Formats: sequence, structure tokens, C-alpha cells
Amino acid sequence: MTQEETKMEKIISLCKRRGFVYQGSEIYGGLAGTWDYGPYGVTLKNNIKGLWWKRFVEDRDDMYGVDAAIIMNQNVWKASGHVSGFSDPLSECKKCGHRFRTDQLEDPKKCPDCGGVLGEARQFNMMFKTNVGPLESEDSISYLRPETAQGMFVNFKNILDTIHPTLPFGLAQIGKAFRNEIAPRDFIFRSREFEQMEIEYFVKPDDWKKTFESFVKEVHAFTTDVGLDKKHVHELEIADGDRAHYSKRTIDFEFDFPFGKKELFGLAYRTDFDLKAHSEASKVDLSYFDEETKTRFIPHCIEPSFGVERTVLAVLSDAYTEDEIDGEKRVYLKFSPKVAPIKVAVFPLLKNKPMLVEKAQEIFNLLRKDIKGVVFDDNGNIGKRYRRQDEIGTPYCVTVDFDTIEKDAGVTVRNRDTGKQERVKIKELTKYLKV
Ligand code: ATP
Repeated sequence: MTQEETKMEKIISLCKRRGFVYQGSEIYGGLAGTWDYGPYGVTLKNNIKGLWWKRFVEDRDDMYGVDAAIIMNQNVWKASGHVSGFSDPLSECKKCGHRFRTDQLEDPKKCPDCGGVLGEARQFNMMFKTNVGPLESEDSISYLRPETAQGMFVNFKNILDTIHPTLPFGLAQIGKAFRNEIAPRDFIFRSREFEQMEIEYFVKPDDWKKTFESFVKEVHAFTTDVGLDKKHVHELEIADGDRAHYSKRTIDFEFDFPFGKKELFGLAYRTDFDLKAHSEASKVDLSYFDEETKTRFIPHCIEPSFGVERTVLAVLSDAYTEDEIDGEKRVYLKFSPKVAPIKVAVFPLLKNKPMLVEKAQEIFNLLRKDIKGVVFDDNGNIGKRYRRQDEIGTPYCVTVDFDTIEKDAGVTVRNRDTGKQERVKIKELTKYLKV
């Protein structure tokens, strides 16, 4: 095992041990490509989604939130090109029967598992098909959406008619997407059910370049919001011929994951492809009337697309740290306080001293009023509690001891990264904790 493979194994095991991520349907032997999130995993995801929503929706005047249905009329996916074109090349080994995504193989003719000969690649559509209603017929076919984007394009007219925004403006959505990936792998990096945070930003055709550039900056800013190391984020310009069918320019933002440099986010110039396709297929006019120039046209669209789970994995990967404190090895997650599931843990020094427990509870209730993500913990000895909070990435541990009560000496605050403790007066505590 290489060092990086070991790191990945350690992250997966920590995620399970500490209640971040479990294998989907685990008690039945699992279901490939699905993952379940435990209490800390849910909060980590919510914090990431909250930062995204704040940056791209709440802090801007030109962005509108949408929450569209996951199951849509099949004609949406016909018009968008997904029914005919949303596929990956699949090769099957003639000897062992294993299946692979052809474009991810080093040698597209040889089976990486048994060395056997691989058959001709065929296109495999990645959408999960289902039927809506009790009848299974051509007309009842629908799909679990493979991207959230289409839910925004089909609501473009609703937004124009009800909110009356002027160009440029964007629609933003966070929600589940499903892809029947041929080879789900690398923990939560490539799964069959995941969440996307997407924006469809509509502009006048001539303005696409400057908007595209401004989103390059915004994407980087978001990676900083969640605490990623700038040095681990790279831009990859996708060449002509390699881009998705709808895109005239694409940048992949790649991240140095433990298993290599891989796509974290994407930014695409989708032109007027989608609105035009839906206008034609639905026979509903999806053009925009520009009051300034008195012209009518179909806006062009810039799409930044973010995967929630890939962000979670990047955040975990940058946060995972091993060091030694006072001669003892420890593991901790160096989360930015903004994403950390728990910001502050409050302990009584000893569990069996009611006066310490009561005081700690009082401080816990006090902090809880101002800070989201405070826990009370009196399980095990203090060393165990520190280890637990380190492993879930809690930036601060506050301990109530005898001096707190007898000498009115405040509490001790332990810093996760340095392990150092400082005495802090109770009334200054909220200000001291930078969360
Ligand atoms: P890849 O080339 O890795 O399959 P993609 O180019 O198909 O990804 P997009 O269609 O651009 O991905 O999807 C937008 C974003 O959704 C990606 O940048 C990624 O963050 C996320 N994403 C896509 N597929 C998956 C998946 N199977 N599991 C988790 N996240 C995904």
C-alpha cells in the first residue's frame, strides 16, 4: 500500500468509526455506489451547503433559489440530449465478466482484474429509468435526474413571469442527482446517488466571457470558504472534442485527492443550448425581452457545478492530520471552524462531581445561545474526550475544573491544533471562540 492509499483507508475508517459516513444498506451487505451519512457527516454536509448558499444566493442580488422535482417529464431528458447521449463507454471482460468504463482503462483491450481480453466498448446510458404511475408503458417512463440543471431550465419562464428579473441573473439549486455509474469507486468520490449544488447563470450572448471569468474566481473563493488548501486546487481547460455535448468552454477544477488529481467541480459555458432545445421541444417561448435594446433573444448560460460529496471528501482529505502531542500519537481533523460539525465541546473535569457537572451544563447552555454546534460531553476520562473531539475535528474544548468554581478563575480552552490550553473568563468565552 502506498502512503496515499493508506491515508484513504484511514479516512474511510475514521468516517465510519466516528459517525460521518457508513456504507449504504450495510446490514444487507451494502449496495454498490451508495453511502449513508451519520450525525457528523450530515452536519458537515449541511455546513458546506450553507456556505455555498450564502456565497452564491444570500450574499448576491442576482441569484434566485429553486427546488425542482427530481422526477421530471421524460421529454425534458429527450430535449436536453440525455436520453440519446448521456452515456459512458462500457467494456466487458470475455473471461471474468467484469465491467469497466473504457475511458478509464490504461489498456482498453485488457482486463485490469484478470488480464483477459475485453470486448468491444458499447455506450451505456447512465440514467436510472423508472415508471411513473401503475402502468409500465413507453409513456410512463421517467428517469431519476442525472443533474439538477434541467430543473432550472424548465423553470426559467416561471421565474421570468413571477419574479421579473433582468439579465444577468442566475438560478441556484441544491439537490440529489443519480447516475448509474459503471464503476463507482474511491469512497464517496464516485457514487450512484449524490448531491449537486448548481447555478445556471443567464447572460446576454456577448457577456459570456466576462461572466465565465468571474465565476472562475468565485469557484476558487468557495474552495477557500470550506477551508481547502489553494495549492491542492487546479484548473484544467477541457479541449475541443472532450467537452460535454452542450458546452463551448469548460474548466474542470481538480483537487489532489489521496488517489490522484481528479475533478472536484466543473464550470461550463452551455451557450443557449438548453433553453433553445426546451423552447423547440415544448413549443413554449423561452426567450427574454431586453427593455434596453428592445430586442428578444434566448439568453446564454454559464454553469458552475459543484458536487457536495466531492467537497466533503476534499475537506476530509485536507483536514486529516496525524501528529504527536506530549509523546502521544494522535489523529485529528483540522477542519476550518466554518465546516466543523461541532465547534465547541464543554466538559466537566470529572463526571462524578455534581458541582462541576452543573457548572459545565450552565456554560454549555450559555454558549449554545450564540454558537451553533456546541456539545456537552462527560463520557470517559478527559483524555478520551479530547481524542474523540480531535477525531471529529472540534476546534475548541472547554473544561470546567475546581478553580472555575472555587477561585472564579474561568475555564480552560484547549485548542485542537496546538493542544495548548488557556484560561478564559466565562463572560469573555463567546468572544474568544472564533467560530
Ligand atoms: P466525472 O468526469 O468525474 O464522471 P462529470 O464530468 O461527469 O464527472 P459533471 O457532469 O460535470 O461531472 O457533474 C458536475 C459535478 O457533480 C462534478 O464536478 C462532481 O462534483 C459531481 N459529480 C458528478 N458525478 C458524480 C458522482 N458519480 N459521484 C459524486 N459526485 C459526482
